[in-house]
Amino acid sequence: MECKAYRETEVYQGAILVLRTLQQAGHEAYIVGGAVRDIQMGRIPHDYDIVTSALPEHTIHSLRESGFTTTNVVGLSFGVVVVRWKDYEYEVASYRNEQYGEDSHRPVSVDFPSTFLADVQRRDFTINGLAMMVDGDIRDEVQGLQDIQKGILRTIGDSKKRFQEDALRMFRLCRFVGQLGFTIDSDTWAGVAPNLYRVQGLSLERVRTEIEKMLLSDHVALALDALVRSHLHEQCCQQTTGGTSRRIPILPELTHLVDLPQAPEYHVHDGWNHTLAVVQQVPPNLVLRWAALLHDVGKGMDGVRGFHKGRITDYNHDRVGAIMARQILERFGYGKDFVNLVVWLVERHMRFHFYVANASADLRKWIHKETGESQFRETADLVLAMEYLAALGVADVAGSGTKDIGPSQVYGERMVRIAKSMPVHTKDLQYHRTLPKTVAPYTKEVMTTLLERVQRGDLDNTPEALQEAGIAKYHRLMKKEHKE
Ligand code: ATP
Ligand code: MG
Repeated sequence: MECKAYRETEVYQGAILVLRTLQQAGHEAYIVGGAVRDIQMGRIPHDYDIVTSALPEHTIHSLRESGFTTTNVVGLSFGVVVVRWKDYEYEVASYRNEQYGEDSHRPVSVDFPSTFLADVQRRDFTINGLAMMVDGDIRDEVQGLQDIQKGILRTIGDSKKRFQEDALRMFRLCRFVGQLGFTIDSDTWAGVAPNLYRVQGLSLERVRTEIEKMLLSDHVALALDALVRSHLHEQCCQQTTGGTSRRIPILPELTHLVDLPQAPEYHVHDGWNHTLAVVQQVPPNLVLRWAALLHDVGKGMDGVRGFHKGRITDYNHDRVGAIMARQILERFGYGKDFVNLVVWLVERHMRFHFYVANASADLRKWIHKETGESQFRETADLVLAMEYLAALGVADVAGSGTKDIGPSQVYGERMVRIAKSMPVHTKDLQYHRTLPKTVAPYTKEVMTTLLERVQRGDLDNTPEALQEAGIAKYHRLMKKEHKE
């Protein structure tokens, strides 16, 4: 499975230089962790971490003597030295032991010197416990190679203890499920439930980073399913601002989707499996993946779920879902534009289906309306939103079990085409540069009229057409004023 292409990369060659330098100074040194795992899986690593028997001060000394630049501002108390070579940075960590206590993530103490074996024992999963030597040979003290081959995620040592030490490892577990598509060993899985209470000590920032990595991963559906089946999503983490801590629920709003029945005429899945199928289907982009995860979160809620002529209904789930999505994303600390865009997608996703199902409805009129009602500042914003809505809509149809997604795709393309021709602001109009001055002092009225007419579709967005219509409007306004 191993592919040798990584050896051609500069970042790898730099890592080898660091290893050689440390070895020549009489220390042990290995590439370790994610890079070794990725190489064994035939992937090209994005960065390289190094471990060494050298103490931090010796690491710094040996590397500086050989002309490397080292920065030791952060991490020195953890035995981590950052080395620069060309445009690359490497973390060189001294073999260390860690002791854990009350904190849900950070060790209470770290000490060195230590041994390779002790250093491996502190690492999270067997697949992350591999070390690689300069000649490419692997040192595997934890059966990591075997677990890579079997596609299994297993903690190094007793999972209950390892998750108790550092609760973030449970989120890393779900994240690696997503990134690697591996299954979780049953003993490792059993270590999660007794340690859910430890999640409350984790910072929102760390949890959010892991959830984002899950959302962007290749096997996102597997990752999110692990997050929910483990009940990690129902826990609270904490956010500390100005010395006070607040409890922040992670994603309890997803719970009711599990096994939620859906109208069988439209769906092959329950609410959660449908959501997973849609998330998996949309491209790996944070806006789209969040929108897909939350698009049906309003389904089944009180006041939404109903029965009509013997059928399940969820009228208004888009609007209720949008309110829930806003609450969730705001408590995660996302910025206003990001939140508005995801919320807009959740709120509009049913409209997409409406237009696909009602080919005679006036699509242009709706898109025009969006320019006035929504947060878009210019055409580019509207186009992006429509591209996302089309992707979400198509994924929603595919995730319902419909084989023929052709009509939705065609409609999505049409929506995007119309959005591209739809000015949102007067700056989206293609007028001659001189027009605003020519029509002064009526610039604002003239430009607004031109904008509305182009939006309605009764004026072309070309310099010639705008010039002619602009000057005509200017004359009308002048005449009117003279009459008055
Ligand atoms: P990525 O591809 O995301 O960089 P990675 O496995 O390299 O994945 P890092 O967070 O960069 O993950 O950590 C590097 C290595 O440090 C891991 O492979 C693992 O051996 C160890 N490690 C990282 N975080 C933890 C943790 N919370 N508990 C134990 N070991 C950890
Ligand atoms: Mg890494």
